[in-house]
Amino acid sequence: VAYGSSLQASRPELTFGVDVGGTKTLALAIDAGGHPLASARLRTQSESATSLVAGIETAVRAVADDLGLDPVSLGLVGLGVPGRVDPHLGAVAHAVNLGLGDEPLPIGPLLGQRLGVPVHVENDVNAAALGAALLLGRPDADLAYLSIGTGIAAGFVLGGRIRRGRRGLAGEIGHLTVDRQGERCECGRRGCLELVASGSAIARRWPVDDSRSSAAELFRAASTGHAGAIAVRDELAGHLAEAVLLLTLTMDVELVVLGGGVAEVGEPLLDAVRAAVAERAEAAAFLDGDDLAASVVLTPDAPVGAIGAGLAARRQRADERSIDRAWAAGGAP
Ligand SMILES: [Zn+2]
Repeated sequence: VAYGSSLQASRPELTFGVDVGGTKTLALAIDAGGHPLASARLRTQSESATSLVAGIETAVRAVADDLGLDPVSLGLVGLGVPGRVDPHLGAVAHAVNLGLGDEPLPIGPLLGQRLGVPVHVENDVNAAALGAALLLGRPDADLAYLSIGTGIAAGFVLGGRIRRGRRGLAGEIGHLTVDRQGERCECGRRGCLELVASGSAIARRWPVDDSRSSAAELFRAASTGHAGAIAVRDELAGHLAEAVLLLTLTMDVELVVLGGGVAEVGEPLLDAVRAAVAERAEAAAFLDGDDLAASVVLTPDAPVGAIGAGLAARRQRADERSIDRAWAAGGAP
């Protein structure tokens, strides 16, 4: 890296957004419109808390180097992580993929010390919901983002703002019981939604030999008329349709965005879920099946998690400044 004069430049219109997944960490620098200008993708180093934070630092510094900037000059990092997040403390707990249990890890302050910039921490699905709202051209919409990956979780963006809830649990619908006699879930309960409708569930129901996606193979086989595949697909679509109805009947959102690894199946998944939503809605006198089916959309083909993490950080900073201004003006109670 050449430490030239450009390294001293300040780019306050840029923000780092980082999506920390169970296997990969994606870091971006985004501009004011949320467009990525540089990126780095590295393996997530979840061997220990120290290696986890050091790995994220490496990814952020790689992006900054790419732009010829010091991380300090961007002034803000937004981090999206799986698990229970306390955005006020910048801490995360219960992130099995990151090796984190009950004990909250103050990942924001730890990363902030290393980089010399403030770090805002957000739940990864909440961040993806915000990123999707922007990229769908609906930054002020009410929407739910249904992440169908290793597990299942949803995030709400209401009036353009993330709704986390009192305990950071808003949208954690993957652990609702759908089968009381079902298998025991990692969470301790039985028959959770994510045991029957997540990417892991599909991999159990439709195993494939190599690194191909079980979900993609399942939908491919169903499209050729394979009766077994059609049965598994329709059962899956039914569970996801119930999740869509749950989110809609809870918050009456304008859009339910299908995201996560399983959503990479694309249109065949969307068609199956829309059909199952319409069928269920038509059976209810107060619901319009076509309207509800049309409200289900696929996540944009973009790194919505990292983009949304950067946006969430920027919004948090704007909120803090407006509170500061209110205090300065004597407007606070
Ligand atoms: Zn569970």
